[in-house]
Parts: sequence; structure tokens; C-alpha cells
Amino acid sequence: MASIKAIRGMHDILPDQTPLWQFFEAKVKSVFDQYGYQEIRMPIAEKTDLFCRSIGEATDVVEKEMYTFADRNGDNMTLRPEGTASCVRAAQEHGLTYNQVQRLWYHGPMFRYERPQKGRQRQFHQFGAEVYGLEGPDVDAELIIMTARLWRELGLQDAVTLQLNTLGSSAARAAYRTDLVEFLQANMQFLDADSQRRVSTNPLRVLDSKNANTQALLDGAPDFYGYLDDESRVHFERLRELLDAAGIVYQINPRLVRGLDYYCKTVFEWVTDKLGSQGTVCGGGRYDGMIEQLGGKPTPAVGWAMGVERMILLLQEMQQEPAGLGQQADVYLAHIGDGASVRTMQLAEQLRTDISGLRLLWHCGGGSLKNQMKKADRCGAKLVLIMGDDELAQGEIQIKPLQGQGEQQSIPLSKVSAHVAELIK
Ligand code: ATP
Ligand code: MG
Repeated sequence: MASIKAIRGMHDILPDQTPLWQFFEAKVKSVFDQYGYQEIRMPIAEKTDLFCRSIGEATDVVEKEMYTFADRNGDNMTLRPEGTASCVRAAQEHGLTYNQVQRLWYHGPMFRYERPQKGRQRQFHQFGAEVYGLEGPDVDAELIIMTARLWRELGLQDAVTLQLNTLGSSAARAAYRTDLVEFLQANMQFLDADSQRRVSTNPLRVLDSKNANTQALLDGAPDFYGYLDDESRVHFERLRELLDAAGIVYQINPRLVRGLDYYCKTVFEWVTDKLGSQGTVCGGGRYDGMIEQLGGKPTPAVGWAMGVERMILLLQEMQQEPAGLGQQADVYLAHIGDGASVRTMQLAEQLRTDISGLRLLWHCGGGSLKNQMKKADRCGAKLVLIMGDDELAQGEIQIKPLQGQGEQQSIPLSKVSAHVAELIK
């Protein structure tokens, strides 16, 4: 019988990869902590309507990427394609946006039915930040500044660049959309097929078409900044001043509209040229209208989401994986004979209690000393502790350094904690 494989585009993350994931996750969490952001955890499935109403019917995500199915009761549910809608739903449902500011972050798997390729999966992971109750642009700047700190902490500051744009108010966008559609309709025959379709469904998305001819044609399109409302213009100018004052370098990209319908005013993306066509590692913006659209009181909102798989690829590409990540243990505890087996089991517990953070592998499964030494090498241990019948009888243990921490020696069991702590420092 053929063995069962994982679902296409949904990947296992194996033990030789999880240390880098954990390293990255710990860095992101510590940056959130530094800025006073609090974690929120939402379910991975929601009612389908939530995503249709928030993300927008005419987006790639809702049109063709959602994992939607009827549960046993016939109710439509969807595996979340992103976190923002769920986060808004949760905040609303529990009154978190009621007359208060929230700075939140979340982390977890997202699901989109896309064509799998490097940096694009059907199950992928995001970290996201969302802020409710602040009109900005100060908090818009903060959200960007914290990502810049993360790049520095990860040694990736030279691998990513910031693209910035404003989408203005919905009235400004509506006025612009009318004129843009008129322009696009007059040039229909020069557009790529995807863009032709979007002229009627989601014309702003034509602006970020990847097609070179379409991009060239757009040089003659109406300029959105001519339609910008005063409030959004001031917001954008102030944001730029704040970013300048923080020393953040950015490029203004008037064609950055982002895939999802819900954005207004500030939008941004951190992009890299190191990962081929999957170059956006983090994107976000302001979505002041969404909470009201989902039945809540009008509440300003802004946030970003970061693709973890692309960040992992980028860390590898830029060789910013910290040394020693694959190391499984500091100490390997070997033993020969039944008595030594029991005694070292007790000793292992004692060492774990005495030495904070100690990573110790107690040998299991019997076998020769030679075989145990091989295992010690393989797990990256700095020391092997060895107990045989003689050591057991003497109340001692052999300490054998594997990475140049001096000579092998015999130590009384009463002194072993202090000794090991010193040697693995
Ligand atoms: P793209 O244009 O690459 O499809 P997107 O605009 O659909 O990205 P967002 O919805 O803004 O992406 O999600 C934020 C981030 O999540 C992206 O910048 C990317 O890093 C990551 N991401 C999105 N879709 C995937 C996917 N299918 N596989 C892996 N990462 C993804
Ligand atoms: Mg996409």
C-alpha cells in the first residue's frame, strides 16, 4: 500500500529546522514585549462571512484562495487566510475596542489555496501586530519602527527595504477609481488578461500588476496623489517626518495598493530582492473602516503581518543563523551497568535542578561505551559524564571534555554540579 504523504503545500518543520524557527520566534516576541504589545490567540477557523465582509469579495484571497467547507451541521467555515479579520472579530466580541487602546500581536498558521513554490505555501505562518483606537500617524510610525528594530536584531537590515504609500480616504479612492477605470477602459487592449478582469472587479489592483507592459501604460494614468484628501495628505506627511526622525529609510511607491480591500491612508511593505519573486516579507497598513464594516463602532485600526517562512529563508540566505543552533545538549550522561544506570538517572535530575538552563541527555537503551560516545558527539555535547561499576563504588564520575575544556578527570559526586557548571559556562 502506498504510504500517506502530507498535503501539497503544507510542510512539516523538522527537528533540524525548529531551532531556527524558535530563535526567530523568540526574537519577534521580545521585540513585541519591548513595545508593550500583548498577545492574542484566535481560533484557526472562522465563519466564512467574516472574511468575505472584511477582506473584500473582489480580492485574490476571497475569490480563489480560501479553504472553505461546510461542517457537519452544514455551516460554512473557512480556515483563516490571514489574522486581521479574526483579530478584529475577537476584539469586538470581547469589548476590547470599547473606549480603549489595544496594542496586540498574534502568531500562527494561515491557509491559502495557492500554487506552492519557494516562499509560498498553502499552510504558512505569520506574525501580526494590530493596534486599535489610535488614529496615527504616530502609531503607524511605531509599527514600522519596531519592524526595523527586528531587522537589526536579526542582522537583516541590509537585506530589506521599505516601500510606503497612502491610499487616502475612501471618498478620495472612489473619485480616483472612477477616473482610473475610464483610463483603463480606453486602453483595454494594452492590458494583460488579469488586469482586464480587474478593471471591473478591483481596478486599483491593476496598479500593482506584475506585467511590464501594463506598468509602462500606467505611467500615463491619472496620478492618485492629485486626488488625495487633506486629512490623508497631512497624515502621510507627518508619518514621513516621524520616520525621517527615526532614521528609517523608505521609498515612496505610488503603485503600492496591497492585495486586500480594507486598507486606507498608510500602506507599506518590507521587500527583499534575495528571495526571487516572493519578495514581500512584511506588509501592512491602516484599516479604519473595517471595525464599523463588521458591525462595530467606528474605530481606527492599523497593523502588519509578516511571513515566517520567508523570514526563515532570508535568515538562511543572508547566513544570519546563529552558531550552535543545532546543538541538542551540553552534557551527555553515559553509564555502564544496572547500578550506574539507576544512579545516573538520579544524578541527571539533580544536575537539571542545580544548573539552570542545563541541557542534558541521559543515555537510554544500553549498549557499549564506544556507542554512547558516538551519540555524545552527534548531539553536540561539550562534556560526557561516564559512570561504570568502579565509579559507582567510589561515589565518583568521570568527566570527559569533548571540545577542549581540559583533561578527563574523576570527580566526587558531591562536587559534580559545581564542576559541570564551570566547564559549560
Ligand atoms: P503575496 O503578494 O506574496 O501573495 P500577500 O499580499 O498575499 O503576499 P499578505 O496578505 O499581505 O500577503 O500577507 C503578509 C505576508 O504573509 C506576506 O508579505 C508574505 O510574507 C506572507 N505570505 C502571504 N501569503 C503567503 C503564502 N502563501 N506562503 C507563505 N507566505 C505568505
Ligand atoms: Mg497573495
